[in-house]
This record gives sequence, structure tokens and C-alpha cells, in this order.
Amino acid sequence: MSFFKLLSNDIAIDLGTANTLIWIKGKGIALNEPSIVAFDVSNKHIIAVGHEAQAMVGRTHRDINIIRPLRDGVIANFEIAEGMMRAFIRKATTSWQAARRIVVCVPSGITEVEKRAVRDSCEHAGAKEVYLIAEPMASAIGVGLNVNESVGNVIVDIGGGTTEIAVITYSRIVQDVSIRVAGDEMTESIVKYFKDKHNFLIGERTAERIKHTVGSAVQLEEEIEVEVKGRDNITGIPKRIQTNSAEVREAIKDTIENIVDAVIKLLDKTPPELAADILDRGIILTGGGANLIGLDELIRRKTRLPVVIAEEPLTAVVRGTGIVVENLNEYSAVLMKSNRY
Ligand code: ADP
Ligand code: MG
Repeated sequence: MSFFKLLSNDIAIDLGTANTLIWIKGKGIALNEPSIVAFDVSNKHIIAVGHEAQAMVGRTHRDINIIRPLRDGVIANFEIAEGMMRAFIRKATTSWQAARRIVVCVPSGITEVEKRAVRDSCEHAGAKEVYLIAEPMASAIGVGLNVNESVGNVIVDIGGGTTEIAVITYSRIVQDVSIRVAGDEMTESIVKYFKDKHNFLIGERTAERIKHTVGSAVQLEEEIEVEVKGRDNITGIPKRIQTNSAEVREAIKDTIENIVDAVIKLLDKTPPELAADILDRGIILTGGGANLIGLDELIRRKTRLPVVIAEEPLTAVVRGTGIVVENLNEYSAVLMKSNRY
């Protein structure tokens, strides 16, 4: 191995709406942090990113703004997103050498303009070569599916801002849909539900915690009770109320219905030869939303197909992108085609 190869700093990035993960060639996952940025409003200087920025939520003065620059799955706030990515890359790569080749994962429905923005960001962060891969493709590789086989695989990746559903065969996405309905919307619905039903105000982080602990897609044998702290919307006084998984399920049911409907619609569009394969292989759930209690069960009931939750659904995409960066030549066929110039 040559000297330069030893020092090469090829990396894979899962630039998610909720979490950013970085894989370093030869090392594995080197960074896993929320896609959040705290910046100075007056000069747009980034003050903190990731966990550090998240810890500042609700605790800053008015000159500091905390945002999630990738809210809807693409770079909504370009300048800030680029700064965030640069800070993460710097944090993950300890070597003095800038990242050489970057494989970055993007939503499958990304436009040419958005592709361009992602490429530019990577280049500004020091990349010599930038390759894009569609999220569901990366997920499929990450969960160990052989994308070179002719059989059809269905991947449903439920992230923060987007749900990506794709049928993949022979290194190609045959059918896919990306909807801007996923975990964030569930969290927002929980906030809204308590406000409307109980005149009770809770923060986003509280709602997120409720979703993780008692959120569910199907009725549970024994519903789970939970105490929630918030503020009375009328008196403004802090108080606590008791809630349970049934109420939370009611709050998030529309979002879940939208996701399930999108899966069914995509299956309907799938060519019959592939449909036969899917009957055997079923659906694989990835992304943080795959952890929602009973979501696999619900999709199984509605589609009558086998449904499995990927092992470690939150890291499937970066592991898949990592496999690609480790073996770029072998996986060149799965990379996204895009018009650079
Ligand atoms: P992205 O790829 O968009 O960054 P992730 O795949 O990291 O998204 O998933 C983040 C989403 O998953 C968030 O909305 C988060 O609330 C949700 N999530 C994580 N764990 C759970 C859980 N146990 N139950 C329900 N939702 C979860
Ligand atoms: Mg993701």
C-alpha cells in the first residue's frame, strides 16, 4: 500500500434531516450527531453544531438562532448546512489531510439544483471527488441486501423529514417515492394534540421523548401510561398530566396512515415479475421511524407481506454508504447519475 493510500481520507456521509453520520474509510462510523446548528444571527457565524447545539435549545439569548438546516430532506438553508457539514467533517477526520473522496447520501427525489448544492458543499469542505448515492440504495446495501441480484427488494426508510420508499433490483431503483412526511410530523402532531385536546403546552423535545417511549402504530396489549410535564395554555402555569400510548397513537395516526398509504401505492405500481419476488422477500424498514412500536406490524397487516425492521435502523444508511466508499469501483453502478457541468 502506498504512503498516500494510507493517509487517504475517504469518507461517507449520511446527511439526514435529523441526524448526520460520518463513516471514515478503514475505520467505520466516526460521527453520529443531530443535524442542528446554533449560529449568531448578526453575522451568521456558527457557534455550535450537533449535540452541543442541541444542548443550547431554549437556553440562548435572542441573538443566537438554532435551526435544523435540512428540515425537509434537502438543504433548505444552504449556507448554514454547508457550515454544519464542514464542522462535522473537521470533527470526524482527525488527520491533517482534507477529505479526498466523499460519498454522500441524498434523498432519491432530489432535484438537479439540490444535487448541485450538496456537491458544492462537499467541495467547499475539501473534497476532491464527490459521489452521490440515493438514500434507499444506501439503506439496502447497509442492511446487507445484494443489490446486484435480479430479485426485488423493498426498502422503507422513515427519517425525520422524509420517508423514502423504493423497490430496488440489479443496482437500480425501479420504483420510488419520497414523501415529506416522517418522524418530525409525528412529533409536531403530538405537540398539537396536547394543545388542542388538553390545553396543555409541551415542547418539541418532550413530544419527541413521548413518541420514543410510548408512541405506537397499533393497539397494544397493555397500553403504557406516562407522565408529561408542560404548561397550562390558559393559566400559563407549569403542570403535569398523565397520558398513555392510546392518546399518543391517536395523535400520530394521520402521519402513519400517510406513510402506509404511500407504501401501498408504490407496491401497486411495481411490475408483476418483481411483485412475485417481493412476496418472498418482503419489506425492510430502516431509519429512526422504524423503531416506532408496532409500525412493522401495521405494515404487515395492510400489505400482507413479510416486514422486518433492519438491525440498527438509524445507522443503516451510513453503513451502506460506508460499504460503497470502501469499494468504490465495485459499487460504481449504484451511484447517482448527475450532470456536473
Ligand atoms: P434522518 O435520516 O432524516 O436524519 P433518522 O433516520 O436519523 O432521520 O431518524 C430520525 C427520526 O426517527 C426522528 O424523527 C426520531 O424522532 C425518530 N425516532 C428515533 N427513534 C425512535 C423511536 N424509538 N420511536 C419513534 N421514532 C423514533
Ligand atoms: Mg436518513
